[in-house]
Amino acid sequence: MPDSFNQGNKPKMFRKKSQAHQPIHELIHGVKSGNRRDLAKAITLIESNSQEHFQRGQELLKELTPHTGNSIRIGITGVPGAGKSTFIETFGESLCEQGYKVAVLAVDPSSTVTGGSILGDKTRMENLSRNPNAFVRPSPSGGVLGGVHRKTRETMLLCEAAGYDVILVETVGVGQSEVIVRGMVDFFMLLVITGAGDELQGMKKGIMELADLIVVNKADGDNLPAAEKTRREYKGILHFLQPATKGWETQAVTCSALHGKGIGDIWEAIADFQTATKESGVFSARRKSQTKEWLHSMIADRILNSFFHDPDIKRNFPDIEAEVISGRKTASQAVERLMELYKK
Ligand code: GDP
Repeated sequence: MPDSFNQGNKPKMFRKKSQAHQPIHELIHGVKSGNRRDLAKAITLIESNSQEHFQRGQELLKELTPHTGNSIRIGITGVPGAGKSTFIETFGESLCEQGYKVAVLAVDPSSTVTGGSILGDKTRMENLSRNPNAFVRPSPSGGVLGGVHRKTRETMLLCEAAGYDVILVETVGVGQSEVIVRGMVDFFMLLVITGAGDELQGMKKGIMELADLIVVNKADGDNLPAAEKTRREYKGILHFLQPATKGWETQAVTCSALHGKGIGDIWEAIADFQTATKESGVFSARRKSQTKEWLHSMIADRILNSFFHDPDIKRNFPDIEAEVISGRKTASQAVERLMELYKK
């Protein structure tokens, strides 16, 4: 039955009301049966900053959590222009053709810093968005990166409950967001391109150390030999780095997202990775430690939030902060004083 079947038959004046008051059990059922519109509504609840929506979202998650976890979670990063959206479109479509259901999420660091967006401004992955086996969701906006982190993680769980087998989480290479995405996925992929030859020196070693696979994109036409040379250079450097995943040697491959070349090999590498890490127990150990870290970071977020919203803290904080800045109080003294106020 098409998603819009029921709503489509209703007179317009009843539609809005029934959407606003849709009982939670209906939404849960809709998500579990893979209804994309209900999934989108559920994600909107999770992403909302309103207290009422948050509560409904948490209720939803509680019911759906037992149906999560059955996917491969793949993070994809690269500088703007590396070809991330082209790659995700080609890769996603190829997986859909093989019968997989693919969800694409994004962590857009820019929305938290400047309010603008690096990832979301252009129309992205149009073909994939239209594929009935795919679900493409832009980055949640607003709040600190920690908040975006929670929203993306919970969105990932909702997608799993809706039956998505492959979750792709995209982010731009500006540091912190990559660490955050690495902390929520099983497999992490770095998309690079050939440049003036000095890109390897400019590349932060830290980012290479997060990756399970380095993909040199745009290996097509005249660029093919240069892409192969770049691949060998990356491979050479990888020998000197810690692998991101215990028992898995980080690979470097070439591909052309535009022409769909090398895409099958990448999926094969991911399948090998899954087999190896599931056998060794590394896969489930990583998921457990990610869940633990998630709990810790949520506690930290909650306490921070409660601290800065405390009326006594709000009243006294500006003066105490000014005293620290002017050198009349040390930071430690200020913390002691603030904690006394907070504990009251
Ligand atoms: P993003 O900013 O990382 O998402 O990059 P885009 O996917 O928007 O790609 C940036 C540009 O590179 C676009 O003009 C793409 O058409 C082009 N591009 C992406 N992948 C390839 C590829 O495999 N080969 C070639 N020649 N161009 C590509």
